[in-house]
Amino acid sequence: MTPDLAILGAGPAGSTLAALLAQRGFKVLVFDDAKRPDLLVGESLVPATVPVMRRLGIEERVAAYSQRKPGVTFLHRQGTRLDFTFGVVAGTVPYAYNIPRPQFDDTLRERAEELGARFITHRAAVAKGDDSREIRLTAETLAAAGLTEHPKLLIDATGRARSFARTLEIGAKSGDRSDVAYFAHYEDFEHPFPPEGQVVISILDHGWSWRIPLPGRLSVGVVVHKEAAKTYGDTAEERLEHALKTEPLLKEHAKRAKRITPVMTYTNYQLVSDRGHGPGWAACGDSFGFVDPMLSPGLFMALESARLFDEHVFAKGPGVLDSPEILAAGFAAAEVELHDWHESWRELIRHFYDGGIFSIYETGTNFSAQFKGWPGIRFVEDHMTKHIASMASGAFTRRKYSRGLVNFMRQHMLRNCRPPEDYAVLPACP
Ligand SMILES: Cc1cc2nc3c(=O)[nH]c(=O)nc-3n(C[C@H](O)[C@H](O)[C@H](O)COP(=O)(O)OP(=O)(O)OC[C@H]3O[C@@H](n4cnc5c(N)ncnc54)[C@H](O)[C@@H]3O)c2cc1C
Repeated sequence: MTPDLAILGAGPAGSTLAALLAQRGFKVLVFDDAKRPDLLVGESLVPATVPVMRRLGIEERVAAYSQRKPGVTFLHRQGTRLDFTFGVVAGTVPYAYNIPRPQFDDTLRERAEELGARFITHRAAVAKGDDSREIRLTAETLAAAGLTEHPKLLIDATGRARSFARTLEIGAKSGDRSDVAYFAHYEDFEHPFPPEGQVVISILDHGWSWRIPLPGRLSVGVVVHKEAAKTYGDTAEERLEHALKTEPLLKEHAKRAKRITPVMTYTNYQLVSDRGHGPGWAACGDSFGFVDPMLSPGLFMALESARLFDEHVFAKGPGVLDSPEILAAGFAAAEVELHDWHESWRELIRHFYDGGIFSIYETGTNFSAQFKGWPGIRFVEDHMTKHIASMASGAFTRRKYSRGLVNFMRQHMLRNCRPPEDYAVLPACP
């Protein structure tokens, strides 16, 4: 088969795009370097991923090995607790999944293969091309795939390797955090946070942590500033154990916990490429940009970027590959939407990092106590909760009204509460 296009990387972005395109009758080849570790971050999804799973016909398979996720609880070192439940707005998906990540990636790949996409195990290499094809597969990679002709289009889905952007020396805008994450799976880690499957995010003395219930185990990670991490110990194991023994919000629940996997280390930063497409190529998922994991938008963005490429470009049919102008216009339209997604997630996540969301909550709680019995008060409270929960679910993240409401509350309505600085995730070294 001479493929119409080749995708580099069989993570969630690459396999989702492969499946969507195979569904449309495109001949797709995916390069997979088979470098995936056994333990991978990206275990907690947002509800907005569910429609894509349904479209691919894989939700039942995913549900069979995953933990249903009803919502997220935020605990703050100051003692504040926020509970969010998904689906508080009619018509939005009321749950997500916590997934054993390697299995989820395998399901996406299996589905793409069932639909006709071809996968090859090879670490694809690219080189700069010319004006009509800005980037190309090397001769060795073409040979490894048995290709005599170059595919018309290449998609970069290599994740943080950002293979094409690096080759083309495309710059990127970075966020202001520079953290490191350590995580592992545990048994007997107490998780008294009903309902079952509830994810818990804790704002710690330094940094923050996640607790993601998976079938038979709990995924626990801490995200701390790189300099602070050095004071926790020399190895990744020592640093994670130190956080679990000393952080007040974790140590009680971790007392009997037994680690059942190695500790994995990830650098954690935020980045969006200055350019996500060019003649003969486009970048999808993390290879275009990645958001901070605080609210778990990463896999959604991988799936959504594949869906946007499908909608704006490939829905036009295989003929689109012979029209550079239509391709460029389609990818440009998808990129506008992707930028808006990135900006919207960043804005929402910033409210959690800089403490604003906790001050808004405290304002609301005090206001309710003060005006107990006033008929409108319940409505105001529900309205705020509804919008924040729906933004975190992916349903309202980009909505102008929801974003404006939270920004307005933050800027003009904070009363009788601790200032956001008291609630901020501390970036500095202890
Ligand atoms: C600390 C941390 C916690 C996170 N937690 C969450 C979370 O709870 N929920 C969530 O949704 N997201 C989370 N994320 C983000 C999430 O993991 C990523 O957004 C997601 O994996 C992106 O998918 P992708 O397909 O773009 O890239 P990847 O998952 O990185 O897939 C890229 C694939 O390409 C392969 N590859 C690379 N180069 C080549 C090559 N040259 N040839 C062939 N194959 C190649 C790689 O081996 C890999 O399999 C987290 C991220 C971090 C850092």
